[in-house]
Amino acid sequence: MTNTYDVIVIGAGPAGENAAEYATQRDLSVAIVEAELVGGECSYWACMPSKALLRPGEALAAARRVPAAAGAITGEVDVEATLRSRDAFTSSWKDDGQVEWLEGAGVTLLRGRGRLTGERRVEVEAADGTRTSYEATKGVVVAVGSRAATPPIDGLAEARTWDNRDITAAKDIPERLLVLGGVVIGVEMAQAMRWLGASEVTIIEALDGLLANEEPFAGEELQAGLEEAGIGVELGARAERVARQGTDGPVTVTLADGRELTGDELLVAVGRRAPTDDLGLEQLGVEPGRGGFIEVDDHLRVPGHDWLYVVGDANGRSLLTHQGKYQARLVGDALAGVDVDPAWADNSAVPRVVFTDPQVAAVGLTEAQARENGVDVFAARFDLGHTAGGALQGKGAGGTAQLVIDRDRRVIVGATFVGAGAGEHLHAATIAVVGEVTIERLWHAVPSFPTVSEVWLRLLEQMRADDLGL
Ligand SMILES: Cc1cc2nc3c(=O)[nH]c(=O)nc-3n(C[C@H](O)[C@H](O)[C@H](O)COP(=O)(O)OP(=O)(O)OC[C@H]3O[C@@H](n4cnc5c(N)ncnc54)[C@H](O)[C@@H]3O)c2cc1C
Repeated sequence: MTNTYDVIVIGAGPAGENAAEYATQRDLSVAIVEAELVGGECSYWACMPSKALLRPGEALAAARRVPAAAGAITGEVDVEATLRSRDAFTSSWKDDGQVEWLEGAGVTLLRGRGRLTGERRVEVEAADGTRTSYEATKGVVVAVGSRAATPPIDGLAEARTWDNRDITAAKDIPERLLVLGGVVIGVEMAQAMRWLGASEVTIIEALDGLLANEEPFAGEELQAGLEEAGIGVELGARAERVARQGTDGPVTVTLADGRELTGDELLVAVGRRAPTDDLGLEQLGVEPGRGGFIEVDDHLRVPGHDWLYVVGDANGRSLLTHQGKYQARLVGDALAGVDVDPAWADNSAVPRVVFTDPQVAAVGLTEAQARENGVDVFAARFDLGHTAGGALQGKGAGGTAQLVIDRDRRVIVGATFVGAGAGEHLHAATIAVVGEVTIERLWHAVPSFPTVSEVWLRLLEQMRADDLGL
């Protein structure tokens, strides 16, 4: 077996797989190292199982909003069928299908844990402890992803808590679930477990709003939706101590104000860490930053090491599958010397969707972030339910759409949509932000009647009424 490849990728999650595939398509020889399952966190313990757990509840909620259809719903989500569907989406945590795909793409799979041992050199330690050294002629791509972080809360490490792996692979739905963290993973899993029959779900968030990095109205509307679904939301609630009774007894979280919350399981969803402690970075004099994330330049290379790229969660730029895959496509091409677009690894228009009810979808900057960046902005806002398409979605299917417009450049720099199925509105906004489409030009992008997308027209009309003119 050859020990030299043009490219060696460490980590076969979505980012690593894409870097390998794109480099292979450019006729480079590529090996990919994977310590667990080909497909990574996203396929088995993150994006796919979480959305499979959410989808049936979302479908029922949509039907319940239509008065003439609601009466036909006589039961709740079928839990067993949902778990079976989740198992199918994760291929029952087997990676045969993805391995077949890799091999078909011409990528060599090296099973084991990869470690950097010097410039362009990687050692792979197989499960039986055997170590083999490999060399990459063109470059090494680190795509090791991220894992749930454990916050330093008294008693938490001993309390047998759940992380994203436990909850997405759950065989039973806990009766009472506590969720530490009111950002995307926490709110999505709270929603899923409630829809799947958990009788008490409580989100514990230290800050004073959910989804703290998004528009404040997004967090507020999401909170209202979750509370209406019977989910408790404790804001400004700092967990100080965690204790479980015995090994299987209830778990209690003590808050800074002395209150105690008790559940059967505690999901810890308060951030991520990149598994870079044992990656051999010290051999290269590279020190990971906070959370183990590896700093990269705008070409996704580690400064001072132009052969070493980091893509996906591991560089900490944006912890989302689609952004990691985008970075990986660019790197796959760059390794082959293909001149890529000058807008390299653009991080200004990251699309993000929270798959709750209501969904929260956003791209680019919030109004506050734009102002902090010194942009003179105008924010146009409209209720999605006040469009003809929105009204047809049924009772309570409203929500808010907001565009943040740069007054000087007359382009959209950020957009947020909150509402049922709002994620599907997002790509139009992403195209407008990335394409820097002027509002004069957008005036000619006519939304179909009667779709919820007519909200774009209503938002443009607000700009017309403002001194932006049109
Ligand atoms: C519950 C949950 C839901 C999510 N939902 C979404 C969603 O809906 N949409 C979205 O865009 N994002 C979502 N995310 C985020 C998404 O999962 C990540 O952004 C994505 O998985 C990152 O891809 P990656 O390839 O960088 O890393 P990963 O998917 O983490 O894969 C990294 C791979 O590297 C391997 N590895 C690590 N170290 C080594 C080593 N030293 N040697 C060999 N192999 C190694 C790991 O075993 C793993 O297979 C979600 C995350 C969570 C936790």
